[in-house]
Amino acid sequence: LTGRPRDNRLTKSYLLPRAPAFIAALFCLALSAACKPNAPAAPLAPRDGPPNILFISLDSLRADRLSCYGGPHATSPNLDKLAAEGTRFAAARAQTPWTLPSHITMMTGLESGVHAMEGGSTTLNPAAPTIAETLADRGFRTAAVACAPYLRAVWGFDHGFEWYDDRLSAPDFEKSHQSKTAALAVDAALARIDRFRGQRWFVFLHIWDVHYDYTPPRRFRKLFVDPLYRGRYDVRDWDGNGSFRPGIDPADFAYVLAQYDAGIAWVDSQLGRLFAALKQSGEWSRTAIVVTADHGEEFLEHGGKGHGHSLFDELLHVPLIVKNAGAPQTSTVDCPVGLIDIYPTLAELGGADPALDAGPGVSLAPLLRDPRNCDPDREFFFETTMGNIARPEGKSRARSLGLLKGRWKYVVRYDYPPLPMLFDLAADPGEKTNLYEVDAMTDEMRDRAWNHQWSNLRQRAARSLARDRAVDPVMVKQLKQLGYLK
Ligand SMILES: [Zn+2]
Repeated sequence: LTGRPRDNRLTKSYLLPRAPAFIAALFCLALSAACKPNAPAAPLAPRDGPPNILFISLDSLRADRLSCYGGPHATSPNLDKLAAEGTRFAAARAQTPWTLPSHITMMTGLESGVHAMEGGSTTLNPAAPTIAETLADRGFRTAAVACAPYLRAVWGFDHGFEWYDDRLSAPDFEKSHQSKTAALAVDAALARIDRFRGQRWFVFLHIWDVHYDYTPPRRFRKLFVDPLYRGRYDVRDWDGNGSFRPGIDPADFAYVLAQYDAGIAWVDSQLGRLFAALKQSGEWSRTAIVVTADHGEEFLEHGGKGHGHSLFDELLHVPLIVKNAGAPQTSTVDCPVGLIDIYPTLAELGGADPALDAGPGVSLAPLLRDPRNCDPDREFFFETTMGNIARPEGKSRARSLGLLKGRWKYVVRYDYPPLPMLFDLAADPGEKTNLYEVDAMTDEMRDRAWNHQWSNLRQRAARSLARDRAVDPVMVKQLKQLGYLK
């Protein structure tokens, strides 16, 4: 199954799955403390129960650049095909707009205000529930391949995984934001799936390459660039690049978006390779696949770039595609859903109780069967504390919280003074007209948001899910390079 490893200094590690298990385990242990040797093999799972589950997170991928979500370019033929075979959720939102807390939310089913994994010097309490543990308890073999500094095992992501491979999380420290690792990650995931052959498995694959810097492999760079473009815009050092701001030359702006889109096309090509290998091996029909993103990306819609710092929909609206294994399913669901629903959905797909350790999420399995199983007025809470970590005194990265209910979205941004906002998404999907001072919905939405926040804070105190940990100076340097820390 394993594709041919590319020329990379990690190449040898990709031969591991072909070695005897005990040698592989010892070699892996020597390579990385985070790469865990296998626990004793789970009993062989019967083939007539729940399917295998492949859960894929594509970092920084906003929904509206995929062709199946109406993007302007043919960026995603393989994801389009998956959506055509499965279900495309048209209105999925992240609960927080940056990598660490958003992935912890997906893995635990808890909002960031509750799990409190907000970066810096915390790690997830081993007592916290994770989807990997839930599925392992059901007899699934479990493995993960993760490619970003904020996906490393040290944050607690390895809980419940027999094998948590984070060696691709910036193998070249100085170029972590330019390293392209999707092909190696797909190789590693396929190798692990090959080892699980004949058993039921849950594999989590995190792919980093859509994340800035927008430097796709060379053969993808001109795919979507206007042939008449004569500029020489440099997309490297994205966080430090002060020239991407309102007023930028429209041709340069289009070039940047073309590079972002090319990154999507590159990642999609690797997913195509992954899907083809699953079909060839016979695993495809026995495997449920869930593809999403931890957050979107800003391109000056509200003056900003990157992610983490606001709660506008360019950061919250993410793709969510679910292919169940064999069961009939609806093609498109317009019902509002959230990444908070990932844990209960994966649990139900795996035959576990979706209400286990219940957070506010719900299983999306009923919506896969019938889109009428929808609550259009369901309440979703959003939060980002990245501003507090990055620059507590600054105005440009203020903490924000928000709430969506039906067509209404309330956001308060703790600038000096605080900036409260209310948007009618039905009339104003771009969130340009602040109705806070004029609309009768303001009081209700503000009260709901405050109540939700206080409920989270009470749970946070009671559950104590984030634990202090020693700060790794190398990690701090790397996160500063990416702009996550100042
Ligand atoms: Zn991310």
